[in-house]
Amino acid sequence: MDTVIRMNRRQILTGLASGSVVAFAPGCVENPTLGRSQLILVSEEQIAQLSAQAWQQSLQRERVSRDPALNAQLQRVGRRIAQASGLGYDWEFVVFDSDQENAWVLPGGKVAFYRGIMETMENDDQVATVMGHEAAHLAGRHAAERASQQQAAGIGLGLAAVALDAGDVENTAQWAAILGAGVTFGVLLPYSRRHELEADRFGVDYMVRAGYDPREALDFWTSKAAQRTGRPSVPEFASTHPSDETRIAALREYLVARNYI
Ligand SMILES: [Zn+2]
Repeated sequence: MDTVIRMNRRQILTGLASGSVVAFAPGCVENPTLGRSQLILVSEEQIAQLSAQAWQQSLQRERVSRDPALNAQLQRVGRRIAQASGLGYDWEFVVFDSDQENAWVLPGGKVAFYRGIMETMENDDQVATVMGHEAAHLAGRHAAERASQQQAAGIGLGLAAVALDAGDVENTAQWAAILGAGVTFGVLLPYSRRHELEADRFGVDYMVRAGYDPREALDFWTSKAAQRTGRPSVPEFASTHPSDETRIAALREYLVARNYI
């Protein structure tokens, strides 16, 4: 995630200014995927521009893995999930050669998985678990919604809003450091937890549509939770992510409701 926050304020403002010529009516819009309305104050063009810059910077800063097996696996799963999502982006799937257990997505279909997280995945279905989750963030327009919430909260459009999921699995405290703590806890974090739970649900739908086994999603998140047991953790109220228990319980409930298990 720190790859994405290095863009300076001037670059952000320049990006926004150049996007401002596009006709755009901000406000509450219905998202048919989510079945709820969203406050969207930023245009697709604004988000796309920030996203493209952040992606280029990440490719320059991180070491891209050339491991043939990991790359083949990520491409294979990525293509299937992308197709299942129906999102017609110019998708890119890149493995970063780092021990971090992390994965994230930028609007426009730019997906990064770190070697560290891929090495904990036992099969394609588990890769598809996280891939589906990332694609669901895009379908949910979570970046635009988060950016809009930041604007509404008077924070301004920061890069924290653009990269999603840096720290899907690890690293929960960073958002709080980037954003003002009061506003963060009061306004933004509940939405971030909501985003995570939404992404889990719709991500599993993509998995199933792509022919993967949704039970692996439960196994994956459960094993992640087990690894964390005993480590100091951020309390749920102070985290951008739901607690493991909340997340796993919600996922299990959804799998049952959809007759996936
Ligand atoms: Zn997420």
